[in-house]
Amino acid sequence: MSFPYEAPVSQSLFDRASAVTPGGVNSPVRAFRAVGGTPRFMVSGTGPYLTDADGREYVDLVCSWGPMILGHSHPEVIAAVQEAVARGTSFGTPGAGEVELAEEIAARIEPVEQVRLVSSGTEATMSAIRLARGFTGRPKVIKFAGCYHGHVDALLAAAGSGVATFGLPDTPGVTGAQAGDTIVLPYNDLEAVRAAFAAHPGEIACVITEASPGNMGVVPPLPGFNQGLKDLCSADGALFISDEVMTGFRVSKAGWYGIDGVRPDLMTFGKVMGGGFPAAAFGGRADVMAHLAPAGPVYQAGTLSGNPIATAAGVAQLRLLDDAAYEKVDAVSAEVRGLVTAALAKEGVAHRVQAAGNMFTVFFTDAEVTDYEGAKAQEAFRFTAFFHSMLSQGVYLPPSAFESWFVSTAHDTAAVERIAAALPAAARAAAAATA
Ligand code: PLP
Repeated sequence: MSFPYEAPVSQSLFDRASAVTPGGVNSPVRAFRAVGGTPRFMVSGTGPYLTDADGREYVDLVCSWGPMILGHSHPEVIAAVQEAVARGTSFGTPGAGEVELAEEIAARIEPVEQVRLVSSGTEATMSAIRLARGFTGRPKVIKFAGCYHGHVDALLAAAGSGVATFGLPDTPGVTGAQAGDTIVLPYNDLEAVRAAFAAHPGEIACVITEASPGNMGVVPPLPGFNQGLKDLCSADGALFISDEVMTGFRVSKAGWYGIDGVRPDLMTFGKVMGGGFPAAAFGGRADVMAHLAPAGPVYQAGTLSGNPIATAAGVAQLRLLDDAAYEKVDAVSAEVRGLVTAALAKEGVAHRVQAAGNMFTVFFTDAEVTDYEGAKAQEAFRFTAFFHSMLSQGVYLPPSAFESWFVSTAHDTAAVERIAAALPAAARAAAAATA
């Protein structure tokens, strides 16, 4: 397809980037490969807006893939960061900020009795799985097709996110041994989980699931699915790990746990809790966490874990996220969902908007999407046309049909009006698109 707007400065940055960085980006989904065209190089963000290197402004519906729930450059978060920076950037010792962030997390999420800070969601899930194996003395891990838990070797099997976007069946570089103890099952299929436990008695260390998946697009758990996983784990002596890297502190004060109340043994967090900086965490039952070094034998460490700038940003952001903030984000999300569905319906485009709290995805299909196969069955070519029309009109969507859209407390009436103004042409482009 042709791309309606040129972006010469982004193009020149992308050319330079491609010379020194594989594919020109430091995380694959940023590269626009799924939708084509030149990725926009952003230079600044304020509230609900991003500005690219060509000086064009966009309403941001990606929000850094979730973290920027207060919008960009929130003054109180920026002030906390500036204060922290003035005191120094890294000490390699324990610091007060780490205690404050850990206390904030534990105060919000009741199953978190103890928490360990790390620097990325990948580290959080990798460490939680090592801990589950160390605690149970068992090798196997159950994960679900379409759930992404970061680029952990053992979990890069039928993963969502970039892996879904690019349709990679498998990742070279992950050996059979690394993935051999991973059992991949269809999402929302409790019978399959029951059968796997029956086939591998006493061998399964844990079941890991996105609390409510966002990485194959938003595909919420069917009623009873998470509780069923928990019950099967408890009956077998396996641990239930709920990955809340995306949902944590985003869909409610207590993340997805705050919505479905199913109590995991371990949980993982990232994104929102870092206020836009690299901070993530895993935590849960104190008797399990006690197995972590230096308290216990399961090794886990990080030079920059609990970095003072990241913890200052995270604490400031979490403290601003009160009930009113979630009400605001939920309301904006509902408004945008309504506008999108009205525009697409007007043009007769088959679609389905699926939401989990304030996270949502527009699937280009009539059918309810309950698993990865269903997500892949959508007419993703319509999304490509829709995406480029929105981009050319100054609305930045995730550059893939298999991702969640995110809004923030900063998405005010003016930002929503800009989205509304762009939707009719985008819906027409989706309607006219051909495979
Ligand atoms: N788990 C989930 C549910 C995620 O959505 C992500 C990232 O998108 C990760 C883990 C990995 O986090 P990170 O990209 O910080 O390594």
